[in-house]
Amino acid sequence: MPSALSGAATGFGYSIDALVVLSLAQYIRNLGYNAVASLNDSSLAVPTAIKAGLGEYGRHGLLITKEFGPRVRLGKVFTDLPMELDTPIRFGVKEFCEVCRRCSDACPVGAISAGAPSAKRYNRSTIKGVRKWSIDGEKCFGYWVSQNSDCAICLRVCPYNKDYSRWWVRAGRRVAGTRLRRLMLWLDVRLGFGERMKPRRWWQGG
Ligand code: SF4
Ligand code: SF4
Repeated sequence: MPSALSGAATGFGYSIDALVVLSLAQYIRNLGYNAVASLNDSSLAVPTAIKAGLGEYGRHGLLITKEFGPRVRLGKVFTDLPMELDTPIRFGVKEFCEVCRRCSDACPVGAISAGAPSAKRYNRSTIKGVRKWSIDGEKCFGYWVSQNSDCAICLRVCPYNKDYSRWWVRAGRRVAGTRLRRLMLWLDVRLGFGERMKPRRWWQGG
């Protein structure tokens, strides 16, 4: 089941996101350049973030960052401010997703493919002509509507959804990027990561 708490966290993230991109755009305009703030509008956020080196693409169709895993909300600022460009990074997510099916197994409506990346179109909401792990966005959103809430089950179960302020979690991420990835996936399940936390426990500080 999705959790209202995760929905609230998502809304809170976007609220801060709006504040950050609007402030940044205004700052750039004050420097004398053009700047337009944007959240999930105007261009696709995930490919932009991947090109900007913020993370890799996951089977669940989300950005996976090194610092926060898939637990991020994206914002953009379009500008003509001259700056150095970042480049895409790799830390083994694609190879890990090839052996992991935690998100596709957990999705309550089967909106996430368990197969290889493909150019298959589920419906008009699927991007045309791109070979990738696409999710069936209409199935996903239909589920949200049926629950009167949004859903973050695929984020919760993702092995990259961890607190990277802990050294042993960072070490695990490094190992997950090697040939020992299947062992890390097995450990993830054995140690109970990705299980739903009871709301009472969350309110008591986890
Ligand atoms: S948000 Fe929920 S319904 Fe949508 S893809 Fe993820 S697990 Fe499936
Ligand atoms: S749950 Fe597994 S397969 Fe899905 S995005 Fe996360 S690492 Fe990749």
